[in-house]
This record gives sequence, structure tokens and C-alpha cells, in this order.
Amino acid sequence: MKTIISLNKKWLLTVLVFSSLLVTYKVSANSNYEDGTGDTVTVKTDDCNGCGECVGDAVDIFGLSNGVVYIKRQPKNYNEREMVHLAIVNCPFKCISANFD
Ligand code: SF4
Repeated sequence: MKTIISLNKKWLLTVLVFSSLLVTYKVSANSNYEDGTGDTVTVKTDDCNGCGECVGDAVDIFGLSNGVVYIKRQPKNYNEREMVHLAIVNCPFKCISANFD
């Protein structure tokens, strides 16, 4: 009987550990921002000509490397979201999109 209880405790502990790992993975997979808002800024790099307009509008968010735009990080606050909106409007090829929660 003691063995069964001991096995049940180990099984329960294993389930708890794996459950917490799954929760941790899910949270980290969905939290791609420092403030945890769930914002997502993306660029279709195939459509981008590397003009750098977006970098001028939101230098903390967009960067250029060898003529290819990349996302430095997601916006952290209202002002940075506004800068991303400006970049979206000014992008000549409309290759920037944003999903702000
Ligand atoms: S403004 Fe648009 S086309 Fe210009 S670098 Fe940025 S994403 Fe590319």
C-alpha cells in the first residue's frame, strides 16, 4: 500500500512539473513583448525595398541590415505604437503590418 501511495505521489509530482512547463511555454510563446501586451509588428521583407523610411519613423522598432529591414523589438508603449502607425502609413510598399491588442 505504501508503494502505491509513493508511486501516486511521484506521478502527481511529474504531472505538476510537466503542467507548469507547458504553461510556461505557452506564456513565453504568446508574450513577444516586454510589456506583455501581445502586440505584433511584422514586415513582409519580400516587398521591402530597403528605403529606410520606417527606421526614420520608429528607430527603436525597425532596423536595416544590408538593405533588409528587420524588427528590433515590439513596441512597449502608446508612443511607440504611434511611431509604428506612422511607419505603416509612410511605407511606400505597404509591407508593414501591426496587430495591437
Ligand atoms: S518603409 Fe517599407 S519599404 Fe522602406 S524599409 Fe521600411 S518596410 Fe521597407
